[in-house]
Amino acid sequence: MHLHLSTWAEVEQFLQRSRVIVVPIGSNEQHGPTGLLGTDWLCPEIIAREAEKRAEILVAPTFNIGMAQHHLAFAGTISLRPSTFIAAISDWVRSLAGHGFEKILFLNGHGGNVASIEAAFSEIYAESSFAARRAGVALKLCNWWDLEGVGELARDLFPTGHGAHATPSEIAITQWAFPDAIKLADYAPLIAPSGPIREALDFRARYPDGRIGSNPGLATPEKGRALVELAAQSLVRELEAFGSETQPD
Ligand SMILES: [Zn+2]
Repeated sequence: MHLHLSTWAEVEQFLQRSRVIVVPIGSNEQHGPTGLLGTDWLCPEIIAREAEKRAEILVAPTFNIGMAQHHLAFAGTISLRPSTFIAAISDWVRSLAGHGFEKILFLNGHGGNVASIEAAFSEIYAESSFAARRAGVALKLCNWWDLEGVGELARDLFPTGHGAHATPSEIAITQWAFPDAIKLADYAPLIAPSGPIREALDFRARYPDGRIGSNPGLATPEKGRALVELAAQSLVRELEAFGSETQPD
């Protein structure tokens, strides 16, 4: 079930059966010479959609703009600063928790979001902690590449040249979902340099074509399909385990 394709009455009925919802969250940012700008929000959305075909889960609209300040020197990147991102996540959570959702799993597709998502969770919990009351909502961050088995599969598929940004695994997933949008380029060097991430102009100087440590030329739609199928199965199990967690009195 998808929230955006449901009516309020259907969501009210869903809440009688389950209090769990998954929110795909990502970023709209450059992904090297061949990666789609939407890669980091498309990957969790694609995985959540496949999981939804396999189990009765509720998928929220994708939170598709993240913390990508370091990519702003590349055209097409849209970023929220950390404080805006944290405030927006907090309002999404308050909205959903207000309807009765008690378990909210954020399925993340962008490493640069992790610190701010964790900070948002702490801000939300702090409101309850300082007021000495229960939060009534449990929040979970799950990066799609950390879903059970996915890291091992990515290492098997791409023993070298996986890297940290514009990776062949994320490019492969978008190639499988959007074969008409596959782009080609000559990568030079074949494997991009690695190093620190700071502000946007420093990033562009260090990583001129936008990649970090990766060779996206290793991506194929078939490898993407394998990653999505495994990730979707793992997500279903993750949601079941999260949903059955009991809250102590
Ligand atoms: Zn990415």
